[in-house]
Amino acid sequence: MSSIRVPFLDLQREYSEYGNKLVKKVQTALASGRFILDEETAAFEGEFSTYIGTNYSIGVNSGSDALYLAMQAIGVEGHEVIIPSHTFISTADAVVRNGGIPVFVDVDPETYTIDPEAVAEHVNNETAAIVPVHLYGQPADVDPILEIAEEHDAAVVEDASQAHGSTYRGDPVGSLGDIACFSLYPTKNLGAYGDAGIVVTDDDDLAERVSMAREYGASEKYRYEFVGVNSRLDEIQAAMLRYKLTRLDELNERRREVAASYDDLLDGVSTPTVEDDRTHVYHLYVVETDDREEFRSYLDNHGVQTLVHYPTPVHEQPAYEGVGKRGDLSVTERVADRIVSLPMHPWCREEEIARVADVVAGFDDA
Ligand SMILES: *Cc1c(COP(=O)(O)O)cnc(C)c1O
Repeated sequence: MSSIRVPFLDLQREYSEYGNKLVKKVQTALASGRFILDEETAAFEGEFSTYIGTNYSIGVNSGSDALYLAMQAIGVEGHEVIIPSHTFISTADAVVRNGGIPVFVDVDPETYTIDPEAVAEHVNNETAAIVPVHLYGQPADVDPILEIAEEHDAAVVEDASQAHGSTYRGDPVGSLGDIACFSLYPTKNLGAYGDAGIVVTDDDDLAERVSMAREYGASEKYRYEFVGVNSRLDEIQAAMLRYKLTRLDELNERRREVAASYDDLLDGVSTPTVEDDRTHVYHLYVVETDDREEFRSYLDNHGVQTLVHYPTPVHEQPAYEGVGKRGDLSVTERVADRIVSLPMHPWCREEEIARVADVVAGFDDA
């Protein structure tokens, strides 16, 4: 067998492709002498709004803060918020940090995104918000959730941190609910060179509240309407993000090509179903296996790096012991034991994908 090593993600390849462009953007930002909430951030917010098709974008410090500030703007304190347990921890933290009660529901067994039927079972008059997470890059089934939310006067907050550029029934994620949150963490499909995040919405009032909340709750300099935080996207990151946004569709297309090659080459391996009414941007390429520990160590011994997103559902985390409410979480618990994420990024080479497929086949034969 060949001895090539296949990294899970290699951002040095991104830097080799267009790092010179990014450095120029940084130089311009540095030379401007202005570093917080100035021209670059405003321009990026405008361009991101155009890309998603919403009226407002508000750049913040991280995806976690985007979720926190969106929940604060909605006002979830003392109310229930329905979220999938099969997600990154921040989705739940944003609820609890705002004094809300997370209600953990199951995911659909085909797509691994929040199950609308489970949402329907748990919605009630206490529900302030429902959070579809567009997990792995595939939009959740949002339309039935919007209907349920409308009937109960609840807000829909999209967690689109893994799905920049994907669409549901023709519309971009981020434009589907009342407000949406994106992480711009370096490994995300649209990633900064440090921490960053963004909130998007069409709602004037929510936009205003998030804009104030990211700057200490200020409506104007030294006038504070409520207690906010300091959570701003900085000019240097915004300058780089503006360039990267122009490349996002092309890079997502390359991810889809990598996924198509995996689909071809991985025989009899189970992966989440991609529904016809959605486009997938493959933040992650996830497969299921019966014996994860053995599978991962076999791949590792053969030079293939893997990760797990995520090994322990939120409701089973120590931080969430006795916190919130729980529905039936049997799909979540089964999936969490079986999933493995294979190397996936726009710079994956054909020989690397072939190598991964060979090693996976070798494991099945062993
Ligand atoms: C990455 C991620 C977050 C958190 O974003 P940060 O920028 O790391 O704070 C939240 N939700 C999901 C689904 C994510 O993947």
